[in-house]
Amino acid sequence: MSEARIIDGKALAARVQEKVAKAVAELKKRHGLTPGLAVVLVGDDPASQVYVRNKGRRTVEAGMRSFEYKLPADASERELLDRIAKLNANPDVHGILVQLPLPRQIRTSAVIDAIDPEKDVDGFHVVNAGRLMTGRKGLVPCTPKGCILLIKQVRKTLEGLQAVVIGRSNIVGKPLAHLLLAENCTVTIAHSRTRDLPEVTRRADILVAAVGRPEMVRGDWIKPGAVVIDVGINRVKGEDGSPKLVGDVAFAEAHKVASAITPVPGGVGPMTIAMLLVNTVQAACRQKRVPVPKVLKDYV
Ligand code: NAD
Repeated sequence: MSEARIIDGKALAARVQEKVAKAVAELKKRHGLTPGLAVVLVGDDPASQVYVRNKGRRTVEAGMRSFEYKLPADASERELLDRIAKLNANPDVHGILVQLPLPRQIRTSAVIDAIDPEKDVDGFHVVNAGRLMTGRKGLVPCTPKGCILLIKQVRKTLEGLQAVVIGRSNIVGKPLAHLLLAENCTVTIAHSRTRDLPEVTRRADILVAAVGRPEMVRGDWIKPGAVVIDVGINRVKGEDGSPKLVGDVAFAEAHKVASAITPVPGGVGPMTIAMLLVNTVQAACRQKRVPVPKVLKDYV
């Protein structure tokens, strides 16, 4: 069997970003609308700081307004909820993202509940989760949305395919399972209590790993010809002792069996921010009651 095609998430994300920039230019010209994204960071977790900086940079590159708010690590839940209430009321802010994870004194669910569902560009609010589950239009979580676009790079239609998602988080696994269901896949969600996981994954035409365990999925867990999407981002020590990133899939083994696979880094990761930009445009259009520019029609 020939080696798998590598699905280039970096290149696809760059194409999406270009289209977002075109859409934003059109919205400014036609409707005087500049979409705005507010990102709130609590504390000084280094990885979160990098994510927040990248999100702000990409937002500005796409021609949108970026608002950044930093609260100290010991900020109270009340302080964060007050900030969210102000952002909910600000007409220049169309999207609100609170960077997770939050410090222990703040309840994540209380924060997600406080965000106006129309500005919930992460798609984590129960209203948006409910819309996704019931097949209504809403804001869809960015990472799963990016996964679907990556799969569509190599499979035009997903109808009738067996899809297995490993991981059942509210951020990745569960919403992705619903998106695959909406594409008419037969969906299995596997998780930490699944029995004989390799036997389950070997049935998958589309296999998504969103676990957070370095290289857990081995080559012999994969059906020959399957499409493999690796969501995991794991920091491990390389052979020379320096840190490196690996996914949840043993890439070298999987590459020999699958028909297509996403790399880590450069697969799912870049798509997440690209989808955040799309969601911000979608939210802005809905709030201003103007249509989403046609250039983004494949993404909303
Ligand atoms: P999570 O910890 O919330 O969920 C992990 C899931 O994996 C759980 O549902 C659990 O049941 C399952 N699991 C744990 N051990 C297992 C095992 N041995 N066998 C089968 N299932 C097992 O994590 P998450 O937020 O969904 O993230 C998953 C991974 O994806 C992490 O590595 C994270 O860094 C990465 N991630 C990447 C992006 C991106 O932009 N690329 C975005 C979000 C998350």
